Amino acid sequence: MGCHLTELPFDNSYARLPASWFQEVDIQPLKNAHLIAFCPEVASTLGLDPCRVKPSDLVTFCGGHEPWPGTRPLAMKYTGHQFGTYNPDLGDGRGLLLGEVAGQDGVRYDLHLKGAGKTAFSRFGDGRAVLRSSIREYLAGEAMAGLGIPTTRALCLLGSEDYTMRNGMEPCAQLLRVTPCHIRFGHFEFFFYSGRHEELKQLADYCLERFFPELQGEANPVLAMYREVLERTARLVASWQAYGFVHGVLNTDNMSILGETFDYGPYTFMDWYEPDHIANKNDHEGRYAFRYQPAIVQWNLAALAQALLPLIEREALEAELERFIPLYQAAKLEFMRARLGLQRIESGDAELVERLEALWARYEMDHNRFLRLLSEWDVNEVEGRAALNALVDNAGELNTWLDDYAARADLEPASAPIRRQQMRSVNPRYILRNYMAEEVIREAHQGDYRPFNDLLPLLRHPGDEHPEHQRYAGSPPDWAAAINLTCSS
Ligand code: AMP
Ligand code: MG
Ligand code: MG
Repeated sequence: MGCHLTELPFDNSYARLPASWFQEVDIQPLKNAHLIAFCPEVASTLGLDPCRVKPSDLVTFCGGHEPWPGTRPLAMKYTGHQFGTYNPDLGDGRGLLLGEVAGQDGVRYDLHLKGAGKTAFSRFGDGRAVLRSSIREYLAGEAMAGLGIPTTRALCLLGSEDYTMRNGMEPCAQLLRVTPCHIRFGHFEFFFYSGRHEELKQLADYCLERFFPELQGEANPVLAMYREVLERTARLVASWQAYGFVHGVLNTDNMSILGETFDYGPYTFMDWYEPDHIANKNDHEGRYAFRYQPAIVQWNLAALAQALLPLIEREALEAELERFIPLYQAAKLEFMRARLGLQRIESGDAELVERLEALWARYEMDHNRFLRLLSEWDVNEVEGRAALNALVDNAGELNTWLDDYAARADLEPASAPIRRQQMRSVNPRYILRNYMAEEVIREAHQGDYRPFNDLLPLLRHPGDEHPEHQRYAGSPPDWAAAINLTCSS
């Protein structure tokens, strides 16, 4: 039996840390705030009874019309490297940490309201988030959760009749982000670059106690924590590479120390496999192109290591960093083996995967669709092969690969039907494509939030058949290639 919003047992551990680490600030209400979406699954995790959550309460409390009992809204200070350059002036410029709640699963969750108004860290910004980017963040959280990739999610999304300037005038929105952790690599960089090494230690201790209590007994707990962050992050970027996800803005202030996909902006699940794909039109040099993500994530981990130098010996950090590439490669191969239905470990597997990726790139294939079709292909059957061949202009090389794959799949202990079933569980029929988000945003701008809400079950269960959404399983429309995403949010 869950509780009401007003009964959520909030704790505010961050508010008990030194006052210079944050600014306490009230939510600035939006005009005619209204509920657009609400996530029952997230509500249940928090211990709420989804049926007893009143939309009007969400609007009252998230909208800032009345104080939410137990919360202590605050903007966190952090810094970070943006596109490779250190920026000391960052922090929550439009989001507020409201408080933490112990979830049903024993995990403590932060509730963070994005688009809550100006703070001491807003710099030139207006403290707001627009509906377009808030819908995209909400969709991404559900899509990642549906794929089993670590991510932040949202409890709800509010719209409003306030407007602000982005791509023309756009409506403002507020998203209530839910995740165990809002500590970014940039939190550590703040204390390092401002020479506040005692507080750096205090932050590390806070993180250990809250997120990694099992590491507190290690000989060097901070090093053990760094190792854990590195391992989780390597696995995270491996999952992005396996599913064709391009984050778009991999600055160190957008990196969670829990290894979750964090801070969704101009992200993209690629419609076709393109190693050089740049999701963010503001990224002129392609720093955050798909193919560079593992190297950039390692760079970000090096930036975190740098910030930890006052607490850990350089040699130990360097040794950890050297583990990144092998860890990443092993995790990536594990994801790809699963996607190919290969449980056994054979020496030629990595090469088989590399050859496939080269084919995807050369023929600009929709690799997610390819893998779903592969999960449906009975290797002895002609039509399935024809469907796969139809994805390329020249099937010669692909058929060579398919023959080799069929021979490799033959070595598997599981029967072919079981193997295909396992493959379907990790090869979604539906993927969150940019055009889908664009379509529902267009409708939302006309005041119709239904198409957006209708997408959510599909994203939460992307492996199931959703006959009413059949068209989403096919190719994107031609105009999808012309979608331009930027940092504007
Ligand atoms: P982002 O590019 O969203 O990761 O944000 C980078 C930094 O800019 C963070 O410190 C944000 O809080 C801040 N920021 C982004 N948008 C706004 C805005 N509209 N108003 C104030 N601060 C913002
Ligand atoms: Mg950010
Ligand atoms: Mg952002």
